[in-house]
Amino acid sequence: MYKIAVLPGDGIGVEIVPEAIKALQAVGEKYNHQFEFTEALVGGAAYDAVGHPLPAETLQICKQSDAVLLGAIGGPKWEQLPVHLRPEVGALLPLRKELGLYANLRPCFLFPGLTHASTLKEEVIAGVDLIVIRELTGGLYFGEKNREKIDGGVKATDILSYSTYEIERIVRYAYEVARKRNHKLCSVDKANVIETSRLWRETVTELAKEYPDVETSHMYVDNCAMQLIRNPKQFDVIVTENMFGDILTDEASMLTGSIGMLPSASIGGEVGLYEPSHGSAPDIAGQNKANPLATILSAAMLLRYSLNLEKEARAIETAVSRVIENGYRTPDLIEEGCRLAGTAEMGDLVVSQIKSL
Ligand code: NAD
Repeated sequence: MYKIAVLPGDGIGVEIVPEAIKALQAVGEKYNHQFEFTEALVGGAAYDAVGHPLPAETLQICKQSDAVLLGAIGGPKWEQLPVHLRPEVGALLPLRKELGLYANLRPCFLFPGLTHASTLKEEVIAGVDLIVIRELTGGLYFGEKNREKIDGGVKATDILSYSTYEIERIVRYAYEVARKRNHKLCSVDKANVIETSRLWRETVTELAKEYPDVETSHMYVDNCAMQLIRNPKQFDVIVTENMFGDILTDEASMLTGSIGMLPSASIGGEVGLYEPSHGSAPDIAGQNKANPLATILSAAMLLRYSLNLEKEARAIETAVSRVIENGYRTPDLIEEGCRLAGTAEMGDLVVSQIKSL
């Protein structure tokens, strides 16, 4: 029996999370596991219901679970709220901090059937298989923020800081992942300009001595943004700080065809959090158009990283792969000769593939 906290959130979150639950239930039936799902409010939905985007009850449910499955949060409705009550700042960041989730893993794998779905050339992306490991509880997003009136306007400040401890922790984790993959680690920074990046690079250089079996390289973030599009197959494991990782992973999502394909796992504490890499997509919410596969693949990561159920995780991934091979596509991926499927239908197709494995 595994306890899973379910936080659908806002926008398409409430459409895609049920599809991931269906996949987990199918896995449970097939492999004899029981999942107990406890739903809780988060984000704008929580603010509307109880006046705070991360209610204490939600946090407690998460802490008492084996893992958390999150949809997405935020949307135009809540953008005018004071900063501390906005879904992202008021819920997502404290949730990561409270659960001690310092590492965010975003595997970027191109399913062979999706080579044509990307806006990038087939020869550039065929065979892409990389993972971005992003530091998640430090850096600019967590630094002190300030505004002050000055002559002629306002001055805003965000503090960017990293300690050796924070850098070592995430980089060591990335080295361990590299050891289980192709033994290549690319550390991304902006050491030519930013002081925290200089400390980052020095720390990685020191740690590299402990991992002689892993080929270490350093890359400036602007170059990395370009290399991801120019030649993404050069990468195996990318490790980087919070904001650079945020931006690079959205870019990397296009290597997989759509942001709707990119899962993520946030780990480091006792309870891991699993969510798609995208946001609440207000432009398509409520229209049965959202691609649920990133969330379903996040559920696979939940099985792998929090519950140690590798075979079961692979079952979901294989099922997703087969649905794609069979030509089903949500609108974000549709191309000539493929069959259009809505959010719920896509979830049903994955479930039937899991059952038939
Ligand atoms: P977004 O990721 O929500 O959407 C960007 C584009 O990608 C949109 O055109 C959207 O339709 C499309 N898209 C996203 N997910 C999709 C899916 N599963 N299937 C098909 N298409 C999909 O980013 P945004 O528009 O910049 O942000 C919308 C809201 O989400 C904002 O309030 C933002 O702050 C929030 N947000 C939340 C998270 C999170 O919950 N972790 C992450 C990013 C953004």
